Amino acid sequence: MGQYGGTARRLERRERRQPSAEPGSAGRERKAAGGVSTLDAGVGVDRGRLAALTAREAAAFAAARPRSRALAERSRGSLLGGVPMTWMMRWAGPFPLFLAEAEGARVVDVDGHEYVDLCLGDTGAMAGHAPEPVVRAVAERAAAGITAMLPTEDAAWAGEELARRFGLPLWQFTLSATDANRFAIRICRAVTGRPKILVFNGCYHGTVDETFATLRADGSVGIRPGNVGPPVDPALTTKVVELNDIDALEAALAPGDVACVLAEPALTNIGIVLPDPGFHDALRELTRRTGTLLVIDETHTFSAGPGGYTAAYGLEPDLLTIGKAIGGGVPVGAFGVTEELARRALAQAGSDYEDVGGVGGTLAGNALSLAAVRATLGEVLTEEAFEHMISLGERLADGVVAAIAAARMPWHVTRLGARAEYRFLPQPPRNGGESAAAGDEELERFLHLYAFNRGVLITPFHNMALVAPATAEADVDRHTEVFAAALEELA
Ligand code: PMP
Repeated sequence: MGQYGGTARRLERRERRQPSAEPGSAGRERKAAGGVSTLDAGVGVDRGRLAALTAREAAAFAAARPRSRALAERSRGSLLGGVPMTWMMRWAGPFPLFLAEAEGARVVDVDGHEYVDLCLGDTGAMAGHAPEPVVRAVAERAAAGITAMLPTEDAAWAGEELARRFGLPLWQFTLSATDANRFAIRICRAVTGRPKILVFNGCYHGTVDETFATLRADGSVGIRPGNVGPPVDPALTTKVVELNDIDALEAALAPGDVACVLAEPALTNIGIVLPDPGFHDALRELTRRTGTLLVIDETHTFSAGPGGYTAAYGLEPDLLTIGKAIGGGVPVGAFGVTEELARRALAQAGSDYEDVGGVGGTLAGNALSLAAVRATLGEVLTEEAFEHMISLGERLADGVVAAIAAARMPWHVTRLGARAEYRFLPQPPRNGGESAAAGDEELERFLHLYAFNRGVLITPFHNMALVAPATAEADVDRHTEVFAAALEELA
């Protein structure tokens, strides 16, 4: 729909990077044992060779980590799945690494192996591990009382700083980004009196029931794989459209039954999928026209700059949610609202907002987490830190692009500020469905194991690399070197 292209933000395009790989190049064809070709031309790898390399790396991983292995065995006796939270089973490797300590951009496991950490707790440690100002502030606050159900001066500071960075004037604090999204959805329902929400296919917004929905091939709403015990069929609560499909978005909002669109400004949980130029203008125009509220989830896209993607690209959400990185590792989430939404919410709900009617939590807004937010935003994730992180993000993406080109793999890299991710597709996907179709757990497992065995940690369920203020050029170059070596072995 051309009318939305007027203020197209070309920058969005510039962050899509692609090497000049030649998919299916005949030179890469190999014969597995027995003479049968196992070349998967789609992703440019030989499946037989991949399996053999993965077995070699898994064996090396296990042999070098007797302490992690022993702790994994012991933990199976008391922890479900042998881990404190079951998704920790998803790390590549026959058992998870056990953490000894982490500082800056480094992690050390219990066997004494040191890693360049490009996972950074899947963004929870984007400020780096144990940043000194946060350690100090947390120690002081802990000694002076952790939680008292009373506000502190740090809360006022944190609200002012988030308002300055993201442009929304009024803030609330939660324990996680998941909670921020849950509460945002409730407020939107309360204010609009509408039952449904809309999300983009391939999204992830935390363990929020309404968002565990997926778009089926026939256009209907399905249950996202791995949705444990959904309370109701998500088709009752949720509409799902593909990112960048403005016609589908318009049709879904037209009946006026959607309380809010909950969107990451770019998808980051199904690889990185960037919005087309003009897409956000269309999204804002259509939501306003249909009386639908717009919630922007900046939890991961905060990597785009000190005020996230919202400030970098001038978005105008009614509500903004964030979590993870803002506490420097201490659990905290937040949501900000416009003056108008605050007025409508209070007018509609009145004293419900002073109660526990679905929005709240005893430890939400606790003194410790707000001390951590103040130290993180005030002294660690500063504007200068973002400049450094984004320039290293570019260096990382450039290195990966060059390695992919050298190995002639039909893959591409997408970057969002300080975060970059490669995907096994020759072109950047335009939506979550396309990106999901390019998922390849076997290949990911090999690449991750290969990196772990050579001292580089990358995020499970992603091929994502994120840099922190403490990350150095040499760290990024180490990743490039290891990634290039893995591709050489595959090619
Ligand atoms: N929003 C986004 C965009 C996320 O990626 C995540 C987690 N990966 C969340 C929200 C939820 O964060 P948490 O698990 O810390 O609640």
